[in-house]
Amino acid sequence: MNVVTHLLNQKQSFGLLTALFETTPLSLSYLDTEFRYVLASHALAQLAGKTPAELLGTTPFDDREGLETWLRPVLQQVLDSGQPYIEQAAALVQTGANPADESEKFWNINYTPVYDENDVPLGILTILEDVTAQVLQRRQLEEAASEATTRAAQLEVHQTELQIAQRLSDETQAALLELAAAATGVINLKQLVNRIVEIVAQVSGCNRVGLSLYQPVSAEYQPTAVYGLETEQVAEWHQTPGVRRDPTSPYDQMFFVQHQPLILDFEQVREAARQQGTEIPNPYGIKNLMMLPLVQSSEVMGILSLDYAGQYHDFSQSETAILTGMARLSAITIQNVRLLAEANEAATLREANRLKDEFMSLVAHELRNPLTTIKGYTQMTQRQLKKAGITSIQTRYLDTIIEQAERMARLVEDLLDLSKIEAGRFELRCKECDLAALTKRTLEFFQTSTATHQLSLTFFPSPDHALFTGWYDSDRLAQVVNNLLSNAIKYSPQGGPIEVRLQRQTLTQISLPTASQPNDSQLEAIHFSVKDQGIGIPLSQQGNLFERFYRALNSQESGLPGLGLGLHISSQIIAQHQGQMWLESAGENQGSTFHFWVPVTNTN
Ligand code: ADP
Repeated sequence: MNVVTHLLNQKQSFGLLTALFETTPLSLSYLDTEFRYVLASHALAQLAGKTPAELLGTTPFDDREGLETWLRPVLQQVLDSGQPYIEQAAALVQTGANPADESEKFWNINYTPVYDENDVPLGILTILEDVTAQVLQRRQLEEAASEATTRAAQLEVHQTELQIAQRLSDETQAALLELAAAATGVINLKQLVNRIVEIVAQVSGCNRVGLSLYQPVSAEYQPTAVYGLETEQVAEWHQTPGVRRDPTSPYDQMFFVQHQPLILDFEQVREAARQQGTEIPNPYGIKNLMMLPLVQSSEVMGILSLDYAGQYHDFSQSETAILTGMARLSAITIQNVRLLAEANEAATLREANRLKDEFMSLVAHELRNPLTTIKGYTQMTQRQLKKAGITSIQTRYLDTIIEQAERMARLVEDLLDLSKIEAGRFELRCKECDLAALTKRTLEFFQTSTATHQLSLTFFPSPDHALFTGWYDSDRLAQVVNNLLSNAIKYSPQGGPIEVRLQRQTLTQISLPTASQPNDSQLEAIHFSVKDQGIGIPLSQQGNLFERFYRALNSQESGLPGLGLGLHISSQIIAQHQGQMWLESAGENQGSTFHFWVPVTNTN
C-alpha cells in the first residue's frame, strides 16, 4: 500500500489530502470507480481550462469521445487488475478553450488504484506529469545525434575515398614510373599496350581491362590488348569487331568530342540497341563498364575500358579521376613509343641509304674504267679506219658508241658525285678561275652540237674578264654551266634562242626568289643565268626540282632522257661556293631561266 492510498484510507487525513490537492503544482486527481473527479489539483483543472470545483463530478472524458475510447478501458483495467498503469511520455493533444491553442503535449501518466482495507476498489489516483519540454529536448538531441551519425557516415565515405585515393596515388606513382620507363623506348608498342592494361587493372582493382587503338584505314577502334580474360577467350576477343563512331549517339559527343569518361550500364546499352534492331552480344557477362578516351593532340587515339566481371561496380569520383589521369598518361606513352618506332625506322632507312650510297660509289668506280677503255678503243678504231677508208654508216656507228660511252661516263660521274655529297665527302678544289672564259668556251662547244638553237652570251656591265674572275673550283663550275646549258638545249626540243648572261652585281641588284633574302645585301657576286624557250616547268613542281632524282612530269612525258641528278649536284656545287641556285618559269611551255650567283672572292 503506497503512502497516498494509506492517507486516503485514513478518514481523518482527507482534509489534509484536500489541502494537498489544492496547493500542489502537480496535475493530480482522484477519480471514483465511475471515473468521476472526486479531487482535482489546480494544475490539472487548468489543463481542462476549468477550476477544481467545476471538475468535480465530471469525468476526464466528458465531451471527449476520442479520449474516452482510449482512457475508459485503461482506467477499467486499472480497477479490475489492481495494477497501476504507467506510461512514459505519452503524446496527448491538449485541448484548450480555444482550438487554435491545441498543441501536442507529452505526459508521464500514472494511474494507481486505491482500495479500502478490505481490498474493495475506491477509485484511482491519477498523476500527470508534463514532460513535453524534456521530450522535445530529447527529440532535438536525437535529431542532432542522428545528424552526427549521418555526418560520421559521410565522413567515413570520405575517408574510404581518401584511402582509395591514397592507394591509387601510391600505385599510380609506381605506374607512372613504369610508363615513363616505357616511354624511353625500353619496350615496343605491343608490350606497352599489354603492360598498360595490366597496370590499369592493378591500380583500379578491377577484373578486366581492354584497350582498342584507332586504325585510320578502317576508321575503327580495333581491340589491341586485354587483361583478365581466360586464355581461350583472348584470341576471340581480338576478333571482336572494332568500335566505330556514331555521331547520332548522345555518348559520341561526350566521349569523342568532350573527352569525358563514360560509365555505362551494359544491359541498358543492349536494350537501347535492341530497340534500334541491333543485338549486342555480351559473351563476357559485362554488368557495367567504364570507358576512358586515350586522347592525343585533341584526337581520341584509343579506348580503355574496364569492368568487374559480372558484377556492378560503383565507380567513385577519385577512381574516375585517377583513371582519367592514367588514360592520359597511357596516350602520351603510346604516342612516344610510336614516334620512337618511326624514328628507329628512319634510322634504319638512313642506314639502308648509306649502304646504297656505298654500293653506288663502288659500282660507279668499277664502271668508270671499262667505260674509259671502251671510249679510248673506239676512238682509236675510228682513227685507224679513217686511214683505211671508212663508210659513213661505220662512222655513225662508231660516233654513237663514243657518244653513249660519254653519256654513261657522265652518269657514272654524277652517281659518284652524289655518293660523295651524301657521304659529306664533296670537296672543292679552288684556284683562280675566269668564269667569263669558262662560260664562253662551254657555250661555243654547245653551239657546235645544235643547229636549231641560237646561243648568245651577254656580259654586264662589260666583258671585262677581271670582273668575272674569282677563287673557284673551275671543273665544278664548268660542270654546273654544262648541266644548265645542256638542259636548256635538251628541254627546248623545238629549238630557239638560248640567252646566257653573266653579270657582276651586288646581291641587292639581283632579283632573288622571295623566300631567300641574303644576310649581306652589298655582297659582290657573279650572277649567271640561262634562259630558254622550252617546255618550262609546272609551277607545282618547281619547289622539288633540286632534289636528287627528281624530274618534272612534263619532262618525263616528253620522253627526254634524264636521271634527275644534274641539278641536285649543281646546286650542291654552288652551295659549296657559298652561292645560291634558283629557277624561274611561268609554267609549262613557258620556257625556263636558271640562275646562280657565287660571291666574288679575293683571288690573291
Ligand atoms: P635530268 O635532266 O637528267 O632529268 P636534271 O637534274 O638536270 O636531270 O634536271 C632535273 C629536272 O629538271 C629535269 O628532269 C626536268 O624535269 C627539269 N629541268 C631542268 N632543266 C630544265 C629546263 N631548262 N627546262 C625544263 N625543265 C628542266
